[in-house]
Amino acid sequence: MKRILLKLSGEALAGDKHTGFDEATVMVVAKQVKQLVDCGTEVGIVIGGGNFWRGRTSENIDRTKADQIGMLATVMNCIYVSEIFRSVGIMTQVLTPFTCGAFTKLFSKDRAGKYFSKGMVCFFAGGTGHPYFSTDTATVLRAVEIEAEGIFLAKAIDGVYDSDPKINPAAVKYDEISIQEVIDRQLAVIDLTASIMCMENKMPMYIFSLNEENSIVKAISGEFSGTKVTV
Ligand code: UDP
Repeated sequence: MKRILLKLSGEALAGDKHTGFDEATVMVVAKQVKQLVDCGTEVGIVIGGGNFWRGRTSENIDRTKADQIGMLATVMNCIYVSEIFRSVGIMTQVLTPFTCGAFTKLFSKDRAGKYFSKGMVCFFAGGTGHPYFSTDTATVLRAVEIEAEGIFLAKAIDGVYDSDPKINPAAVKYDEISIQEVIDRQLAVIDLTASIMCMENKMPMYIFSLNEENSIVKAISGEFSGTKVTV
């Protein structure tokens, strides 16, 4: 694929620690993305913030402020992962929908396009820039804006199941499922706002496990064994 958007959850960065960063885990991602970039794929990345903070889990502070902290957590994640990427020889830029001084560049489609054409990986940090949204929504929004061919969701689980395989050992994995069915069956792939955006903008998604060897490269180069969400 020519241009894709890769979504990593915040927890994925933490490895077994569940919070903060696990450098070995991020290095595995970096080496795979390097292979993709070397083959000419343009890679945009969105990272969640759950390894630090989630707005809705705070009960005592204003939701808007709690969500701002969450968005800043995603900026920290992107700066960290961007630096690990640079350490393996990938050129990167971190873009945010709000100004962060000299820490990041302000997002625009044109700016992202310019960086892609120079062979850089673009990190879309800071979510949508608005509270009450998630990085799932930011993922679809940026994928649509940059005209990505698809969204690749690297998860702790290897695809979409008809029920939770941790609870139901007979749960069945889908090879392919439509976004309409994901919405109707309330399958927890991405949140509802993001799912609707995917459907309206006809953006396919590929769900696969981050924990399998070379899974990002395999997923994007066609050896895909997860679930394709069709539109
Ligand atoms: N967030 C936000 N707006 C966005 C993206 C993220 O307010 O556009 C905040 C929100 O508080 C969220 C946190 O950042 O809980 C971390 O984002 P992530 O999508 O990882 O959170 P989750 O969906 O797991 O709550």
